[in-house]
Amino acid sequence: MNNVLQINGLVKAYNAGKPNEIAVLRGIDLSVAKGEVVALVAPSGAGKTTLLQIAGLLDVADGGDLSIGGDSVQGLNDAKRTQMRRREVGFIYQFHHLLPEFTALENVTLPQLANGIATAAAEARARALLDSVGVAHRASHRPAELSGGEQQRVAYCRALANDPKLLLADEPTGNLDPETSDLVFGALMKLVREAGLSALIATHNLDLAARMDRMVRLEAGRIVPA
Ligand code: ADP
Repeated sequence: MNNVLQINGLVKAYNAGKPNEIAVLRGIDLSVAKGEVVALVAPSGAGKTTLLQIAGLLDVADGGDLSIGGDSVQGLNDAKRTQMRRREVGFIYQFHHLLPEFTALENVTLPQLANGIATAAAEARARALLDSVGVAHRASHRPAELSGGEQQRVAYCRALANDPKLLLADEPTGNLDPETSDLVFGALMKLVREAGLSALIATHNLDLAARMDRMVRLEAGRIVPA
C-alpha cells in the first residue's frame, strides 16, 4: 500500500446525542498517494476543517480508520499521536499563525529544534526553504514586518521544516488578494514538488484546485469525485 494518507469510513459528529447534533463526516473514504496533491473542495460549513484537523491528528474521529505513511493512528495514546503529528505531518492554516515575537528564520528553525535537530543544521534548512520561495532576504524580520504573501510563504516553510510525509492545508491562500494568492500558491507547489510531498489542500478557489493532481468534493459528509 503506497498511500501516504488512507482514510476509511471516517465519521465525526458534534454534540453527539444532543438535540443540536451535527453529523459532519458521515463515512469519509479518501486516499492520497505518494507525491500526489489532492484538492479538497467544498462549500463553507461542509466539514473541510473538521476533516483536516482529524487527518492532522489535531482532533479525533468518532469512528473509522486513518493511517499516515502506512501507520494506523488507531489506539495511539496522546503522546504517540503528538509524536506522529510532529514527525509526519505539516499543517498550513488560512492565517499564518507565525509566532509574532520571533523572526521568519526562527519561526522555521524552532519546530526543528523541538524535533531534536541541531541549531546549525536547523538554521541551514530554514534558510534553504526561505530561499526557495523567495523570502530569504526577509529572514531576520518578524511577521508584523512582512506582507501577507511573505507571511504565508514563511508559514509554508515552517510546515515543511521537519520534512513531513504529508502536508495538510486549510485554505492556504484564503486571506490573500487573488493576484498574491496565485503567486504564493505557486511557491507552495514548488516546495511540495521539490520535496515529493503528498498533500491534501482545501480551497474554495477552483483555479487553484485545477493546478493540483486531482480534485475531490466533500458533500453531505462524504467524499465524491469532482
Ligand atoms: P468548513 O471547514 O467546511 O467550513 P467545518 O469543519 O469548520 O467546515 O464545520 C462543519 C460543521 O460543523 C459546521 O456546521 C460547523 O458549524 C460545525 N462545527 C465545527 N466545529 C464545531 C464544534 N467544535 N462544535 C460544534 N459544531 C462545530
